[in-house]
Parts: sequence; C-alpha cells; structure tokens
Amino acid sequence: MAFEIIMPKAGIDMTEGQIVKWLKKEGDPVKEGEIILEIMTDKTSMELEAEATGILLKIVHQDGETVPVTEVIGYIGSENESVETLMPEVIEDTGAKESDEEKRMIRLEDNYQVVVIGGGPAGYVAAIRAAQLGAKVAIVEKGTFGGTCLNVGCIPTKTYLKNAEIIEHIQAAASRGIIIDSTMIRIDMEKVQEYKNGVVKKLTSGVVSLLKSNGVDIYQGVGRINKNHDVVVNDSQIIKADKIILAGGSKASRINIPGIESKKVLTSDELLAVKEVPGTLAVIGGGVIGTEMGQSFAGLGSKVIIIEMMDRIVPTLDQEVSAELLRHMKKKGIEVMTSTRITEIVDKGDKLEIRIEGKDPVIADKALIAIGRTPDLEGLGEVKPEIERGKIKVNEYMETSVKGIYAPGDVNGIKMLAHVAFRMGEVAAENAVKGNHRKVNLLSAPSVVYTSPEVAQVGMTEEQAREKYEDIRIGKFHFAANGRALASGDAVGFVKVIADNRYGEVLGVHIIGPSAAEIITQASLIMEMEITVNEAVNTIYGHPTYSEALIEAFNDVLGEAVHIPKKKK
Ligand code: NAD
Repeated sequence: MAFEIIMPKAGIDMTEGQIVKWLKKEGDPVKEGEIILEIMTDKTSMELEAEATGILLKIVHQDGETVPVTEVIGYIGSENESVETLMPEVIEDTGAKESDEEKRMIRLEDNYQVVVIGGGPAGYVAAIRAAQLGAKVAIVEKGTFGGTCLNVGCIPTKTYLKNAEIIEHIQAAASRGIIIDSTMIRIDMEKVQEYKNGVVKKLTSGVVSLLKSNGVDIYQGVGRINKNHDVVVNDSQIIKADKIILAGGSKASRINIPGIESKKVLTSDELLAVKEVPGTLAVIGGGVIGTEMGQSFAGLGSKVIIIEMMDRIVPTLDQEVSAELLRHMKKKGIEVMTSTRITEIVDKGDKLEIRIEGKDPVIADKALIAIGRTPDLEGLGEVKPEIERGKIKVNEYMETSVKGIYAPGDVNGIKMLAHVAFRMGEVAAENAVKGNHRKVNLLSAPSVVYTSPEVAQVGMTEEQAREKYEDIRIGKFHFAANGRALASGDAVGFVKVIADNRYGEVLGVHIIGPSAAEIITQASLIMEMEITVNEAVNTIYGHPTYSEALIEAFNDVLGEAVHIPKKKK
C-alpha cells in the first residue's frame, strides 16, 4: 500500500508551505520516523518525518515549491511497487484504450443515470433525491452507510455528551432537594459503548432501508472514477454512469509533531471506542471536536487538558461567545491552554509527555488529536478536477470543473457540517438529474458546538459584521433572566443578535445556553426569509420557553426588551 506524504496543516491559518529541501531522493529507502524533508510555513520551519517505512517512490513537488496544505508532495511505497500503479494521475492519458486489467473487470450491463460515491450525509441524500426525481441510481460505499456523522461523529458523540449531562444532573440533584443515597457514580464503559453502538446501528441501518425503499442499487466497496468517467468498484466492477456525484467526505487531518504516531495518541474515532476512561486526557486542538470530546470525557471522570495553539477555543465563534464557553469549561474543571505550541510528544511507556514551547510539559494517559479534517479524495481515481488546497473546487451547482461530476459535502471543504452536506447533496442530485438550475445558499446554515452549555451561531460574528457594515446594533439577553432556564437550573449564557442599524437586517445570531442548538433554527428561518428585526418582534412566543431569550434579544436591538432592567442614564 502506498503512503502519501502530504503538506501538513500546522495551524488553522496555514494555507500553504514551502518545501525547503528534500533530504532523500527518489528510490532511497526511508524509515518510519526518519526526517525526510524540511518545510517552511509563514511562521516557522519544520522537519517532516516519514510516516511509513519503505522506498521514497516519487517526489511530486521539488525543493523551493510552495504547496497548499494537505496536498500530496510525495509517495512512500514498498520495493516492488511502481509509482504508476499507485498514482493514476501521473500516468499519461492513453485515451480510451482499455488496459488488460480493465478487460478482466466485470462490466455491468446497467447504465445508471446517477452513480453516487460515498454514503454519508451528502451521498445518501443525493442518491435518494435523484431516485425521487425518477433517475436510475446506484450508490457505492466503502465503509458503513451514514458516513462520519452517523458512525463516528455527530451521533455517537451526542450519546457521550448526554451521559455527561446525566451525571451533571445527578450531581445537581441535592441542591434541588432530591437526595440520592449514594455518593458514588460508576461508569460501565462496556455498557456505555453498547448503548452508543445501538443508536448508531439503528440510524445506519435506517439509511440502508431508505436507500432500498427508494430503489437505489447498493454497491459495497471502494468506488473510483476511471478515465472514461465510469465508476470502478473494488477495482473489479465497472458501473456506467451518465452523471457522477462524488461525496467522499473527509478524514482526520494529520500533523507532523515528533512522537504523534504513539498508539496513545488517538483520533476521535478511536477515542469513541475506548473501553477504559483515561485518567488524564490531553486534547490537542480546542476546536469543535476538542471541546465536545473533552467535555464528554471530563463528564465520565477524566482529567482533561485542552491544548490550543490559537489565543481562544473554537476560534470560529464570536469572540464573546468563545470567552463565555472557556469560562464554563474551566468551571467544570477542564484545564485549557491557549496560544500553546506543542514541540514533541514522548511516549514514556505508561504515560505520554507532551512537550510545550516555553511551558511545563503536560503528562497524560492518552491524547486526542483534533486539529481539523481534510477531504477524502480517494474516489477521484483517474479524473483531475480543479483542486484548491486539497479541496475539490465546485461551483454553486456543486459541479466540479469536470462536467457531469458533482462533489457535495466535506470533499469540497466549503463548510464541513452534516446539515450543509445534506443540502449540498440534494442540490447536486437535482442538478445532475434535471440540468444545472439550483444553487446552494448557505446564508442560513447554522453551526453548533454540543458542549454544556450548548453553543450555536448563524451568520456573521460581531468582528465580521463590524468589518463589513459601518453601523451595527447589538441586542443581548441573558438566560439568567429567563424563567424556564431558572426553573430548570440551567440559567447560564446569553443570546446575542447583530443587526444592521439602517434597515434592521439580521446579520448574525449567537447563542450560548440551554437548547441553543434548537433555538438557532428560528434565527436561521428569520435570516432565510429576510425578516427584519422590527418584523421578528411581532411574533408571540410561548411562555415560559427558552426561546423567549431570542425574542428578548431581538427586542433589545430596538431598546424595547421588557425583562432587562432599564440602564441608568
Ligand atoms: P476544527 O477546525 O474545529 O478545530 C481544530 C482546532 O485545532 C483549531 O482550534 C486549531 O486552532 C487547533 N489546532 C490546529 N493545529 C494545532 C496544533 N498543532 N496544536 C494545537 N492546536 C491546533 O477541527 P475539529 O475540531 O477537528 O473538527 C473537524 C471538523 O468536523 C470541523 O470541520 C467541524 O466543523 C466538524 N465537526 C462538527 C461538529 C458539529 O457540528 N457539532 C462536531 C464535530 C466535528
């Protein structure tokens, strides 16, 4: 199996790196862990280690070249491998001539109107939508249907977060007069896993049933597009397709910190499967996965230390919201180190020593690596659409630069969220079946961080709005003054509405607090329908509800909130 050497993403704002010098030449043997090249980012220079043992088969980018992050810069393989068999993209295009291998493949008689590669949120929705429109559809999946979200992402993490919430509620019970005659909470990890796996199974098998009920033909295996624009499954079956929807999703990003290959450094997929709660868990990356998983394991009893290189956690959030989330994380006993650079990870046998620039090392039993995700381009096979920084470039119709091939979801890296992938899949399918006519509009797409308190946002942050608009107004309402939140004992956080002062256009809504993920959809609807602040406040909200905090924040934009004490002049 060939191993790709990629330009690492050594920071959230790193978009490209320069190859300073290859320390090996093509054909040289390399050992896992051996330094093979030096690169330079805009901040620092780093050495890259080989992540596999073998032969340096091919150098794709030479000394001095600047390469986007996550792009392949070379290949390591075994002695008897030839680069041509590994990299279809370096083979000279030989036209439509059939190779001997192709002749041996099973050629399927069926000619599908649409073949979808990938059965995650973008792919399965695309397949079902295309079938609903009357197309003959096939879908190819190399793993389990449901993709990252259902199998190892959104859904399983939500079962863990619910566990953390239940424990918090048990701990809070006494303060409400509910006395539990035991002080001990014990975690049965086998049972925790069993519950999580049950939920995942129900949903993933549900996806398969939906596909079948819509008459979609299912192929299990790795699907790749060949030069004739057919889809080849497991290098053995050729499926003819009029249009192809490549929805290959994404995989966890890698980074070349020395020692990162230790078995104690886990991806979120691996951490979700552990049978023992780590005593101390270091979380590398304080983004969405880092904060969600960090909090889940803190709830289960781990001492959690989040190590983030930027100056705040979940840097994509509105600054004020990120600060509020940090306050709550710390209150729950989670240690958070920001503006922190890891230099090396040393596996000391029983513990990991995470060395940090200018600070004491962090000692942990396990580490989670959560520094972002990168598109999975395996399905591209022999086609070469335009790629930008490792992401497939698509237009608003979700079509790539190769006509008839669409790429919705994480593969295009526009916004790596399951609900965005749903919409992109739907739009790609409609365009593939009926011709390009529907564009993707992400204005009202919210994003959510399922921590406690929950965080949700739609539209611009305050910083972005101030940059783009001259005159903005901000309305805010704290859950501390919300009856439902007080009664439930979760009166923390706030709703913040950012509006354009001239026309009352809603520019962004940010919520940290109870049911934020549910409330944000109302803000999405308001923005999608282009309802102004003045119009929104006409709606009568039920009382007592968490959602009242939203309408009070809208009222505050106009200076008309009733449940906020009047500011002294
Ligand atoms: P992310 O981009 O959200 O966060 C990565 C974090 O790692 C950033 O804060 C970055 O500054 C930091 N980082 C990068 N290199 C680092 C280093 N060397 N040392 C320390 N910190 C470093 O990525 P993620 O959390 O891995 O999530 C991956 C993707 O999955 C995202 O696109 C996310 O939107 C999606 N996701 C979404 C949800 C959700 O919607 N609730 C949940 C999980 C994942």
